[in-house]
Amino acid sequence: MARFFDLAQQCRLLEEELTEAFRRVLVSGTFVLGSEVQRFERAFAAFCGTADCVGVGNGLDAIELLLRAHGVGPGDEVIVPAFTFVATAFAVSLVGAKPVFADVDAQTCNLDPASVAAAVTPRTRAVIAVHLYGVPAPMEPLAALTRSRGLLLLEDCAQAHGARYHGRPTGGLADGGAHSFYPTKNLGALGDAGAITTQDAALAERLRQLRSYGQREKYVHPTLGRNSRLDPLQAALLNVKLGHLDSFNLRRAEIAETYRRRLAGLGLGMQQVPPECSSAHHLFVVWHPRRDALRTALEARGVETLVHYPVPVHHQAPYGHPTANPALAVAERLSSQVLSLPLYPEMNDLDVAGVVDGVQASLEALANA
Ligand SMILES: *Cc1c(COP(=O)(O)O)cnc(C)c1O
Repeated sequence: MARFFDLAQQCRLLEEELTEAFRRVLVSGTFVLGSEVQRFERAFAAFCGTADCVGVGNGLDAIELLLRAHGVGPGDEVIVPAFTFVATAFAVSLVGAKPVFADVDAQTCNLDPASVAAAVTPRTRAVIAVHLYGVPAPMEPLAALTRSRGLLLLEDCAQAHGARYHGRPTGGLADGGAHSFYPTKNLGALGDAGAITTQDAALAERLRQLRSYGQREKYVHPTLGRNSRLDPLQAALLNVKLGHLDSFNLRRAEIAETYRRRLAGLGLGMQQVPPECSSAHHLFVVWHPRRDALRTALEARGVETLVHYPVPVHHQAPYGHPTANPALAVAERLSSQVLSLPLYPEMNDLDVAGVVDGVQASLEALANA
């Protein structure tokens, strides 16, 4: 039986280190911000090659606070992919701005710069590029487009810890990167956590205020801020896990390579990784016109799969577009065809072979049915 992921297994491997980190926080008596949070912020900024990092409560807050810190709000439009986790668009709506959906590329599943260009209006303030499934979005064409029109370019890095674009880590490629440390991400906390990485010291300072009641110093609140601080316990646990992230990502890459090799030529679509991109291999996503039948056949063979994502964001109730939108046709097709195979660093070679065999047998059964 190949589980989709097994978070307890990773915790067992790191149990001593994680327990020691927990003890450190326990005896420190500091339970909001403090040295564990600072240590993580410095280490994660170094990992992303950025000047600074601001730890916050979760990935949704990271995107929302990044937009707020840039002054994006009511009356503004922000271009987001129609094919992503809802958080990317929800953060835009939560600051009172309007998400405008652009289509994605049929091979990379990432933002299509031509569709972004077509979505720009005089109200557009920013574009949020999502590095979907761990593959960097086309940052160069997007930067050319946003620079020439005076727009912000933000990164949703929730799925991309360890990804690189032209050799540079994601999170420091544009006007700010939002990260989630939701437990299943490549770098996952043991609860909710998030961060923003940036090269801009003034932006980082505004973010530090916004995450903490808009407070500049004790009882001085120049802006209406939130309470969304990275928990020191999560920071301590993340400090442990960050030390293992590169080796975890190497194992992910090895498994993804095996899938690519052994599942080639079977009529499955597979996410393309452009030559300038190095994937973080967050999810291994294939596509097939009979996705649901394939999923059922895999389930029967003991291979657990998930779908990221079965509903394109513009069809979600808050954006209520019940009918197909021809301008977002790729997002709509992918959402009906994509399937995520199990991919996590603790899978052993037998688990991986089990998935490969399961997919081969299921496709055969589908073809003969
Ligand atoms: C996980 C995720 C988020 C949100 O992160 P949370 O920490 O769960 O709020 C945002 N964007 C993408 C693309 C994600 O995968």
